[in-house]
Amino acid sequence: MDKIIPKQVQCDGHASIIDGKALAGKIRAELKAAGHKANLAVVIVGDDEASHVYVRAKIRAADEVGLGTKLFELDKKTAEVELVKLIEKLNKDKSVDGILVQLPLPKQINERKVLALIDSRKDVDGFTAKNAGQLFLGEEGLFPCTPCGVIEMLESVGETFKGRHAVVVGRSNIVGKPMAMMLLNKGCTVTITHSKTVDLTMHTKMADILVVAVGKRNLITASMVKPGATVIDVGINRYEGKLCGDVDFDAVRDIAAYITPVPGGVGPMTIAMVLKNLTKTIKV
Ligand code: NDP
Repeated sequence: MDKIIPKQVQCDGHASIIDGKALAGKIRAELKAAGHKANLAVVIVGDDEASHVYVRAKIRAADEVGLGTKLFELDKKTAEVELVKLIEKLNKDKSVDGILVQLPLPKQINERKVLALIDSRKDVDGFTAKNAGQLFLGEEGLFPCTPCGVIEMLESVGETFKGRHAVVVGRSNIVGKPMAMMLLNKGCTVTITHSKTVDLTMHTKMADILVVAVGKRNLITASMVKPGATVIDVGINRYEGKLCGDVDFDAVRDIAAYITPVPGGVGPMTIAMVLKNLTKTIKV
């Protein structure tokens, strides 16, 4: 069966680009039209520039779709106990539907401890053990936004998942592992690779769906990709003042059937999925 290919750009003789920016815009428009009402508390500690950029983008996106936000900006010297108190307060606050703690947190704060405190019903990032467990069990829950965005991108090009071999490069708790579990739950045969994998190419070459989430420019070259594969590049790297992913885009697009760009691929989808999760908090 031919794939349905909405919102993507056909490159002459190359893979089709899955346009994450356009797809994210469509999802935001749908959320706006649905008229959801929910409030997101966004907590940021310290002055990391990239974190502030991400937070501003999330707040802007929420505003655009009519969802409320409350920003809590804490000093970089904030003690863990202060952040814990704030999370506990937000957990109890009935006017707050979702809580997002922007990572990374300063060194004096134990990230896992703080994230674990978030009420799992308000956990829009899907980082709590309860939500991770629900994903593992194949139940409903709030799941990490980046892999959720990847699934929507794959669905947008008619991906059928069942029986397809998906290879995930990277095994972090926020991207690689939940990504693998989502693909497994959808019926893919899944291989997870990481820094200790021997012969990465042997695995990536077998992938019908290749998701790369490492943070190393040009890690995936054309010779590592199966002809006709769908390649999703989650990585974000800065090179010569520009953003790029983990995949050698120009070379791989001659081999793959579908490919995501960086920027304009998975990044905008991650933000759209934060909003989608926020609208789900009302139901869970
Ligand atoms: P982590 O650093 O937490 O994880 C990186 C993973 O890559 C690890 O599992 C590591 O293996 C693995 N790895 C490292 N080197 C290799 C290698 N040579 N071959 C195979 N695997 C390797 O990163 P994240 O998962 O948080 O993020 C990954 C990338 O995605 C980053 O560039 C990040 O900026 C980006 N990102 C993009 C988002 C978006 O919205 N577009 C959202 C989140 C992240 P090991 O476990 O063995 O150390």
